[in-house]
Amino acid sequence: MTDDVSGLLIGKARSEVAEYARRMVRDGLAVGTSGNVSVRIGDLVAVTPSGVGYEQVAAADVCVVDLEGFVVEGRFVPTSELPLHLACYQRHGAGAVVHTHSPAATALSLLRDDVPFVHYQIAMFGGGISVAPYAPFGSLELVENVSAALTARTAAVMKHHGTVSLGSHLEKAYDGARQLEWLCDVWLRASAVAPPALLSADQIEEAVARMVGYGQ
Ligand SMILES: [Zn+2]
Repeated sequence: MTDDVSGLLIGKARSEVAEYARRMVRDGLAVGTSGNVSVRIGDLVAVTPSGVGYEQVAAADVCVVDLEGFVVEGRFVPTSELPLHLACYQRHGAGAVVHTHSPAATALSLLRDDVPFVHYQIAMFGGGISVAPYAPFGSLELVENVSAALTARTAAVMKHHGTVSLGSHLEKAYDGARQLEWLCDVWLRASAVAPPALLSADQIEEAVARMVGYGQ
């Protein structure tokens, strides 16, 4: 890859990260400076900065770091959850990562250790989703807890915190974050009325198998 081409790709990735960070606030998945977004470009990662309000975040505010977390480009410090993002790239093969503080998933995390099988859509993540135990934000303990919950899955809920969703690209990771929030919201609505009926593990497994063939 020539320097010109990699420069263009990095510029595109920074714009995309800024766009999705703004979208995350508009869609109610995060408030102000909370949550964060990143995308991988080869051995580099474009990631939202720490402490910049996402309503206004621009491509020039987005940081570029290497896979060890050293800043290569950008005038701001990267998000405090950078170690979590890097673990998603290094351990889970992600191409993009969306971390939300979305209300339904956070509310569910106070009540459950998993996301109940309320809808077959949960199959898009590879099956049942775990709630990772609480650890302080930005800590290596949080990285380990969330990383364990991401085993063979593309999303996890984080107790007293939010969610993380992985994808081969940002559109896919973002769609996962929205779908996960919707699943949690469905459970909250139903369980406010009565204990909800749930799909069985076999039914979810069947949906996972169908989704593998779907859209190819
Ligand atoms: Zn967070």
